[in-house]
Amino acid sequence: MTVVSARMRQVKLSPSVAARIILNQLREEGRRIIDMTIGEPDFATPDHISKAAIDAIMRGDTKYPLSQGTVALRKAAALRISLDTGLEYPLDQIIVSTGAKQVLYNALTATLEAGDEVIIPAPYWVSYPDMVELSGGVPVTLLTQAASQYKITPDALRAAITPKTKWLMLNAPSNPSGTVYDLAELAALADVLRDHPHVWIMTDDIYARLTFDGGPAPHILQAAPDLADRTLAVNGVSKCYAMTGWRIGYGSGPKDLIKAMAVVQSQSTSGACTISQAAATAALNGPQDCVEDFARSFKERRDLALTILADAPGLNAVSPDGAFYIFPDCSALLGSTAPDGSVIATDADLVQYILRKTGVALLDGMSYGVPGTFRLSFASAPDEVREGCEAIKSVCKELAENKA
Ligand code: PMP
Repeated sequence: MTVVSARMRQVKLSPSVAARIILNQLREEGRRIIDMTIGEPDFATPDHISKAAIDAIMRGDTKYPLSQGTVALRKAAALRISLDTGLEYPLDQIIVSTGAKQVLYNALTATLEAGDEVIIPAPYWVSYPDMVELSGGVPVTLLTQAASQYKITPDALRAAITPKTKWLMLNAPSNPSGTVYDLAELAALADVLRDHPHVWIMTDDIYARLTFDGGPAPHILQAAPDLADRTLAVNGVSKCYAMTGWRIGYGSGPKDLIKAMAVVQSQSTSGACTISQAAATAALNGPQDCVEDFARSFKERRDLALTILADAPGLNAVSPDGAFYIFPDCSALLGSTAPDGSVIATDADLVQYILRKTGVALLDGMSYGVPGTFRLSFASAPDEVREGCEAIKSVCKELAENKA
């Protein structure tokens, strides 16, 4: 007998949260850990943003917010969305929630009937399948290939759509692969979607401004504005303003959808923290050079990591175009035996071995839907990125020699 529901028993603790718990235990035991699991910029939140929160507290802006989001923040988000997608949304088509994560969750809760399918390109952000299951839907994995930069193709998309498909999830730059689509590729996907008017599109744009080749990642609504009446665009301030702990995200989409999401929110959290909303308003309305500075630093860290990993035998890493992760294929190392006798049969074995041997923490590729890979984050300080990648390289050398 368990108090936990059958639906809940399908769902696992987020692997990055689980990793955090293990790493904290190891640190308490005195181990030095280089944490490359974490999806969090190491930068401090810019001062003008923090100050806006302090000002909000001091002027007594500490009461319940409007459940759907403060007017000031929704106005700031509307401006940002029009710059990012070229589309104008009135305030009743925008919702502010406790992180982009809650925007996604509200949308799935508000729309999925039991058995509805959600197409999730793999590799995917770890939370998508579990959020779909929590909402009674069925995650349908659409596996992509490293050889095509982990992009979905129009043919593969067409083949994955069934009468039960409710949503297609798109996330670019992708966590974990860093893949970005160009406008022509998005237009080709939009052509397929036009043939299937029952399929809605959920774009997770949380990394869209953290790209390495100038300018934000192209958006499907720029390629196909006619799809706006069945697209939810999800964004937030966590990654591009170094505001992970403030927990503010926003979504824009058709009125009925946003209204239903607002009902879910009004019956669950009553809206996102008022003080954090004041800070996020300052982030979106204020100077934007911090976003460019962060993106430039991440690009340097990416280049540093890729240069070191290029000499790691058995690893094959696609260069990410944005976000702050590398997702190397490590399948050539599987089947090897480490000098201490550990058998490295899976990516999870490799990740555990690297942690035991070097203190470098990574996440296994299985969690992202692609066995034979792992994810490393280069969001931490450059010295840590260097040390972590050198340690990974030394383990790869040792395993490759043992395998030969
Ligand atoms: N989407 C993706 C792809 C992410 O990587 C993350 C954070 N790891 C989120 C959404 C959640 O962002 P937030 O902090 O705004 O909830």
